Amino acid sequence: MHPKVKIVATLGPATNSTEAIGTLIEAGVDLFRLNFSYGTHEEHQKSILSIRRIAEQKGRNVAILQDICGPKIRIRGLKKRIVVRRGEKLLLADKPTQEAFSITHPELIASMDVGEDIFFADGTVHTRIVKKDSHTLTLEVLTSGTLAEGKGVNLPDSRLTLSALTQKDRDDLHFGAKAGVDFVAVSFVSSEEDVKEARKIVNEAGGDAWIVAKIERKSALKHLDAIIDASDAVMVARGDLGAEAGLFRVPLLQKEIIGKCNDKAKPVITATQMLTSMVNSPYPTRAEVSDIANAVLDGTDAVMLSDETAVGSYAQKAVEVLKDTILQTQHLCKPRDGTAPGSREAFPSAAVEISKLVPCSFVAALTLSGYTARHLSRFRPQQPIYVITTTPSLVKKTAIIWGVRMCVAIEEFGSEKELTRRFLEKTGLEPSAFLLVTGYLGEKIFQGKSVRYINRCDLEIHPKS
Ligand code: PGA
Ligand code: MN
Repeated sequence: MHPKVKIVATLGPATNSTEAIGTLIEAGVDLFRLNFSYGTHEEHQKSILSIRRIAEQKGRNVAILQDICGPKIRIRGLKKRIVVRRGEKLLLADKPTQEAFSITHPELIASMDVGEDIFFADGTVHTRIVKKDSHTLTLEVLTSGTLAEGKGVNLPDSRLTLSALTQKDRDDLHFGAKAGVDFVAVSFVSSEEDVKEARKIVNEAGGDAWIVAKIERKSALKHLDAIIDASDAVMVARGDLGAEAGLFRVPLLQKEIIGKCNDKAKPVITATQMLTSMVNSPYPTRAEVSDIANAVLDGTDAVMLSDETAVGSYAQKAVEVLKDTILQTQHLCKPRDGTAPGSREAFPSAAVEISKLVPCSFVAALTLSGYTARHLSRFRPQQPIYVITTTPSLVKKTAIIWGVRMCVAIEEFGSEKELTRRFLEKTGLEPSAFLLVTGYLGEKIFQGKSVRYINRCDLEIHPKS
């Protein structure tokens, strides 16, 4: 059995050797995430070349996602790790002093007011502003925890919004475009403008990466529909989202974001703390396995590991746990209640309806942009999806789409028969029957859209099964 839900693994010190990359690909990774909060361009370039080479050797379609760090605010000027307790007062100043620490965007401090909340260390330390002086805020600790230099800071109430793209992000996007990454994940998106801006930079630098909007700010929730429309894919970035929107809202926000993405046929990744205990333990908790299964049932296209594979001691095992949980759960994946095809997706929808009525080994989508493949996936066929595309750079991108087993590029073909023959040759498939749904292909041989049922007689070959 093959997992229909895709697996994203973050590379890091624990896994950026060629051997570890090979092991993770064998274990089932579909996309590698390169976290540009860490590492040099040289190191990322090395990882990119290794992933490409090893995936090629293994004949696997593995994509690369460049995650740019965005305006992540961090603690600055804290000389040592401190444990802070409920009720304690802390001083936050625009410049670090003997008594006060600061943050990496000190200009935000002046915009904050008494009564507003500030979170530290992935939202684990909750504080409230109780006093405001000209350069200093006094914070009262509401939940105890540990603070240290470089730990994340969330200011969900801040009225000043930092642009989602810092100068470092812009440089990283240029690098990614040159290196040919398949996806760019944009952190701390506030509105669709951030997505458009990132796409513009990528395209101007000669890249064609799909843009993944990370939903992790309150302001992104306000503009959710427009952000999803402007993006190629979305990430439910539960870490910062929990700190910004409130931890206890995360489960329902996850369902809402996934639901909207499903309706719009945009692939969605569920991320962060899926298997945190496996950073140090070879076994997951029941709660973690349930969380993965529930993300699958919510309709996620992909699940993601961060520290578990970047710095964890059991990276391979963590990927296997994702895979096993997906395999146990995916037979219940179905289109969302009330999913009705719009006129543009009548054909993918019809193909899935037909697939329930006739014997067929798989449903294939012939696509130029990926549109037909995404919309076929949206109707959640039980059979595997095979994608045939006339656009070679699309092949890796389909690695994120739910249910896509394989994608092959066939740029030129003289007839439908030739296309089918070359597709079966390339994939090594010998089906007794399959469905083929075609999208618009411009000047290519197909005119208009179609759903074809192709069986062994039509194939003029002698299949094994
Ligand atoms: P990060 O994004 O790991 O880059 O912070 C994911 C999240 O916030 O959940
Ligand atoms: Mn984040």
